[in-house]
Amino acid sequence: MSEHDTVAALKDVRAGIARAAADYERDPASVTLVAVSKLFPATAILPVLAAGQRVFGENYVKEAGEKWPALRERYPDVELHLIGPLQSNKARDAVQLFDVIETLDRPSLAEALAKEIARLGKAPRLLVQVNTGAEPQKGGVLPADLDGFLEACRSRYGLTVEGLMCIPPADDPPSPHFALLNSMAKRNGLETLSMGMSADYDPAIQLGATHVRIGSAIFGARVPR
Ligand SMILES: *Cc1c(COP(=O)(O)O)cnc(C)c1O
Repeated sequence: MSEHDTVAALKDVRAGIARAAADYERDPASVTLVAVSKLFPATAILPVLAAGQRVFGENYVKEAGEKWPALRERYPDVELHLIGPLQSNKARDAVQLFDVIETLDRPSLAEALAKEIARLGKAPRLLVQVNTGAEPQKGGVLPADLDGFLEACRSRYGLTVEGLMCIPPADDPPSPHFALLNSMAKRNGLETLSMGMSADYDPAIQLGATHVRIGSAIFGARVPR
């Protein structure tokens, strides 16, 4: 294995989350760590599972399908989140594999997910991704379209949306994006806020994150595929 001590890094991240929660007078148990294991093999994930981490995020349906069924046999209480863009033609695999899909962002995907949920009799928890920076290359519903989309998810597709997720633009200070996501969730009576990554989970916790998605601070730098 590499020099990187993943278990020590996990402990540091957990301590950082606890410290941020304390700083902002929040219950540390109200912030869930989603350990983002994309592009890392099972050999890198196993020590993190052995250290007690159970909530993981993956970006690619295919990669997750190759890694997680075997890991789940050993750790059946794992909770797996899809945090990368989802093509409608992968909706069936995604519903089968994931406990939470964080990247619902368009009517065609809502329709595909509703169909597979009915067919498989299994419903992942759903978050809507919001493109808070209105970046053309990024997935997510535009802020102005969010309330209408949530209404369509409910009434047209029969989907229960639990919360919102965002990835702020790389070059922006993240806090205004986190504050915007928080206010949009409040306005719509949604409880779950997935925001904050390795570099910015502290302000995300300050602004109400219930889930922080942390990869490189735990697993080290990712090698591009
Ligand atoms: C990769 C990824 C993360 C983790 O990013 P780090 O900076 O490595 O913590 C979080 N969220 C999403 C959507 C990602 O794609």
